[in-house]
Amino acid sequence: MPLLLDFADNAIKINVRTSKKARRLRLVSGINGVEAIVPLDYRAEELQSFVSSRKDWIIKTSQYYSRLKERCGGIEPDTIYFLGSKYHFHVVKDKKTSAVVSEAMKVITFHMADRRRYKEEMQEWYKEQIGRVIAERLPLLAGRLNMKFGKVSIKSQKSRWASCSKKGNMNFNLLLAAAPLEVIDYVIIHELTHLVEMDHSSRFWQLVKEADPDYKKHKEWLAIYSPVIKIR
Ligand SMILES: [Zn+2]
Repeated sequence: MPLLLDFADNAIKINVRTSKKARRLRLVSGINGVEAIVPLDYRAEELQSFVSSRKDWIIKTSQYYSRLKERCGGIEPDTIYFLGSKYHFHVVKDKKTSAVVSEAMKVITFHMADRRRYKEEMQEWYKEQIGRVIAERLPLLAGRLNMKFGKVSIKSQKSRWASCSKKGNMNFNLLLAAAPLEVIDYVIIHELTHLVEMDHSSRFWQLVKEADPDYKKHKEWLAIYSPVIKIR
């Protein structure tokens, strides 16, 4: 049951979610609002006073996320991001699987035999598309930075855009197909830089900046769009 907070001029709805694992009350804020995660045996008055004590933080983060939501246009059904642009998508039944991208109309039509499997088909398509971009950009950027990389795989990952191993093997999240090319380049540069600097130290960011002077903007794109980049 949601808890409605009325802070004079801003009413903020807080969704309350009970969790078996939660040991104490916790608040999380995101593009879809503020959520209170509470243990099964929480007391309502305790939650009420906890929430009141975090009032300033709640207002601040809610405003931050609502600005972000405005900037990325919110979440709409039947839309898919591809290389930084938002497209509407249609799914049509067909014997052969294919996707037709109309850049002018900003529409992608997915053809497939079983329309119920559209999410899997779209994932496959994303995987193919980002695979093609990485296959082209990674050797080029590695050459420019004088780095050697190992095996490359494209995966469906929940919480990471990419990762790399000490051997130089690299994983990229298939959802990166949603990002603009310069953001994909940034992710590649980020991983290549990890081959010389494992941690996110100031030296690490200095090296990233040398390879991508606009890296802050690119990093921010990922932060802004990650809540809306999904296959739905
Ligand atoms: Zn990193």
